[in-house]
Amino acid sequence: MNVRAPEPRPLLNRRLAEFGTTIFAEMSALALRTGSINLGQGFPDTDGPDEIREAAVRALRDGRGNQYPPGPGVPELRTAIADHQRTRYGLVHDPDTEVLVTAGATEAIAASLLALVEPGDEVVALEPYYDSYAACIAMAGGRRVPVTLRPRDGAYHLDLDELRDAVTDRTRLILLNTPHNPTGTVLSREELAAIARLAVERDLLVVTDEVYEHLVFDGEHTPIATFPGMRERTVTIGSAGKTFSFTGWKVGWVTAAPELVAAVRSAKQFLTYVSAGPFQYAVAEALRLPQTYFDGLRDDLRAKRDLLSAGLADAGFAVYRPSGTYFVTTDIRPLGEDDGFAFCRALPERCGVVAIPNAVFYDHRDQGAPFVRFAFCKRENVLQEAVTRLKGLASG
Ligand SMILES: *Cc1c(COP(=O)(O)O)cnc(C)c1O
Repeated sequence: MNVRAPEPRPLLNRRLAEFGTTIFAEMSALALRTGSINLGQGFPDTDGPDEIREAAVRALRDGRGNQYPPGPGVPELRTAIADHQRTRYGLVHDPDTEVLVTAGATEAIAASLLALVEPGDEVVALEPYYDSYAACIAMAGGRRVPVTLRPRDGAYHLDLDELRDAVTDRTRLILLNTPHNPTGTVLSREELAAIARLAVERDLLVVTDEVYEHLVFDGEHTPIATFPGMRERTVTIGSAGKTFSFTGWKVGWVTAAPELVAAVRSAKQFLTYVSAGPFQYAVAEALRLPQTYFDGLRDDLRAKRDLLSAGLADAGFAVYRPSGTYFVTTDIRPLGEDDGFAFCRALPERCGVVAIPNAVFYDHRDQGAPFVRFAFCKRENVLQEAVTRLKGLASG
């Protein structure tokens, strides 16, 4: 008699099975193997300010932060974060009870969702998503409900009616991201006011990822926490990585009302407990850099956006002009292509450039199929070389 062996149980649990390894690992490996210019992953190819790097060295040498820092973060950094929110946005936070330092925004996102979402709760999020959102919602046992940003007239737009329709009695929170990765959309005051009214009316929490707050090229960034009724129901997430060009330091933070910070801290303490001791002192100094630093960073990246966007248009892509972030999204259909995955897998061999297919950021993969994302947070000569290489595409 033939007895069939039982199917071996998969190692990766059911919640995470769909996520596998990220596209960034595959594409970065491809970039290395082919000697391509990597415009896939969003990290700068030059470090942030020397004096901030030196501040980290000093902290290390002086023995500040070399042992476990306090759970909520070192007081110098919490005070600097509170000052940053107050002087820029008029948001007043008590550094002791309303600020929490995390291992990058990534941990802040994970801890917020693990703390605030019950299994079965719905989380409404803007699609395409930053890639950790779907995985974190899944780890929390939540159900993600995408509201898709639609490409129109050279930019991506939120449909407020769609957002309103996505909210049900099971919705626990709205997960926002502005400036938005990967589309570069910066939500307007009117859009944020409408989202705030919806959150108040339906008694929802809002978790908002604002890591690109200092990288807005057109318009302005407004934290949703500043709108009426939002201060007490919003978890605002920031990070030093993108603002100071030290993405490897992994210093992020949460600002919110005391009960929300306490909830997020409950999850955070069992994820990393604490992190990045000496870097916390350096980031405290970075947040106090003069306004000329922040303006300079923004102007530099705006020029890079313009350089790469023009080059992509010349090479035959349809370009969605980003108002903020590190990224520009393109449509490959004018090049006679419609499968972003196939296009990105072939691009390194064709012309020595690596990009990311936007489909990976969608639940509705077909919605993202013909779109491809390029990062412009690279040195000008690197972008120029990439543009030169991409020009070869149209000719075959
Ligand atoms: C880069 C990025 C993060 C991660 O920030 P870290 O501080 O490096 O963890 C979070 N959200 C968005 C939208 C990002 O682009």
